[in-house]
Amino acid sequence: MLVVSAHAGDFVWRAGGAIALAASRGQRVTVLCLSFGERGESAKAWREGRKLDEIKAIRRDEAASAAAVLGAAIEFCDAGDYPLRESDELTDRIVRCFRQARPAVVLTHTLADPYNGDHPAAARMALQARVLAQAAGYDSPGEPIGAPPVFLFEPHQPEMCGFTPQVLLDISEVFDLKRRAMECLPAQQHMWDYYTDLARRRGTQLQRNAGPNLGLPHDTVAEAFMRVYPQVTRVLA
Ligand SMILES: [Zn+2]
Repeated sequence: MLVVSAHAGDFVWRAGGAIALAASRGQRVTVLCLSFGERGESAKAWREGRKLDEIKAIRRDEAASAAAVLGAAIEFCDAGDYPLRESDELTDRIVRCFRQARPAVVLTHTLADPYNGDHPAAARMALQARVLAQAAGYDSPGEPIGAPPVFLFEPHQPEMCGFTPQVLLDISEVFDLKRRAMECLPAQQHMWDYYTDLARRRGTQLQRNAGPNLGLPHDTVAEAFMRVYPQVTRVLA
């Protein structure tokens, strides 16, 4: 699994369960963190009067701790945020990561987010890099990759980003890891309960879509995703 995250916290809030679930099943998970979210998602540290380099170091340490809890390897590009600038160089860096990690599954942001231009920028570069990494003639180390499916994780304001859940992933068995990973990010403490509540709501939807609507209590928690490419299957299920 390869997770392309614009900022230091994104992969934790939006895909921490998917990551922990894959890792707990012995799959190799790599998080590629394009920036530390140092300017746009570190308001608390700025308010405390900290300097840019200090904030980047704090966010890097937090993200590394969260990735370790989830069982993922993490790489940092330090490409800057607000704005995260799309460039051939950064896209090439992502291509290299694709060819090295050779993911069977790719997770990244939605292609629309009117609240945060860095998220779609990360998604565009991730999708472009995936296609370039498939091309035999693209000059980058390693062999061309196949066509791993891409799942877009849930943005903070889903209705505003054209996000409709297409896939509901049951993360109940690893939710304690996701919560612990979220608690590695005190710079964004206001998100912990928000994403715990969201997991409960998505879990309720999962149950409704999985069986009869009996209204019975349950403790299922879930994460929602959209797909970019068609599901490939021999069996409709
Ligand atoms: Zn972000």
